[in-house]
Amino acid sequence: MRISLHPYKLQFKYPFKIAHGVRTYTDVVYVKIEHTGFTGWGEATLPPYLPETQQSVTEFINAFAVGLSNDSPDEWAEKLLQDTSGNSAAKAGLDMALWDIKAQMASVTVKDLLAINVNSFPLGTYTIGVSSAGELKEKVTAATQAGFKLFKLKLTGENDEEVVTSFRALTDTPFAVDVNQGWIDVKEAISKAKFLKKQGCVFIEQPFNKDALAESKELKKANILPVYADESCQNLSDIDRLKDSFDGINIKLMKCGGITQARKMITLAREFKLKVLIGCMSESSVGCTAAAQLTPLADYADLDGPYLIANDPFEGMKVENGKVVVYPLVTKIQLEH
Ligand code: MG
Repeated sequence: MRISLHPYKLQFKYPFKIAHGVRTYTDVVYVKIEHTGFTGWGEATLPPYLPETQQSVTEFINAFAVGLSNDSPDEWAEKLLQDTSGNSAAKAGLDMALWDIKAQMASVTVKDLLAINVNSFPLGTYTIGVSSAGELKEKVTAATQAGFKLFKLKLTGENDEEVVTSFRALTDTPFAVDVNQGWIDVKEAISKAKFLKKQGCVFIEQPFNKDALAESKELKKANILPVYADESCQNLSDIDRLKDSFDGINIKLMKCGGITQARKMITLAREFKLKVLIGCMSESSVGCTAAAQLTPLADYADLDGPYLIANDPFEGMKVENGKVVVYPLVTKIQLEH
């Protein structure tokens, strides 16, 4: 097994503005594993508000590989399962490359290898960051033309009604909102939730601070719209603590450490009757195609990274007629080593 790492900068088509900042690019490290004539790909995606960097990912994976035999993806996967350090994006990159290579060796898809027999894929959302009126129109038009039938609007807590009204003036397509911890007061949140429901909103993501579980519980109890955890829910160990404060969770490979962990999270979430959204950190097609393999088990998929990136070196999953469709990964731009 030969492993190589490829740092890369994903440029956004539009500057991506949310409640806690704006960014124009995302650093990633592509993980390439070559074995028995097959090539598996993974991606560690590193938004700047998280602690991992291209350097930390490179160091983690280089150290991880020391002492492992070169011919057993299963041995690598087993060691990954035993690792209790953080490094969740680095682990996710390795984990998805291992799944990719194992699926190719077995001549099946990753979804098949995961024994996911469901063949219906959920709706995929197109995320709209905080935008000017002109940008909003451009994005709604682009996403509608690309076949999206569900939007996710980023709210900040300020001018929320105005944002939704501007959006509604352009389209009657359903939408969700992601508040990214921007709301503080529960009464105000309940009143906003009622407004949002009337406007065709289908769920609210992370309305309050990640630790404000009591507030979230009250909003959940008001039973106006389903409330999903994102920042509050990083990995498997969080779910039990959150189950009474949210109706669903947003599972991202970069938060939990990869496909193996995400699969476990889905099982536990379902035991607690929680809804499941498979999300992304604006990954390119490598990360989103890996995550898409799990989406038949989810209520929604937020895997719009490839649609928001101007220089995606790969092509894979797509959203067609509103729903996630998984295509095999294709390399469009050869990465330098
Ligand atoms: Mg979110």
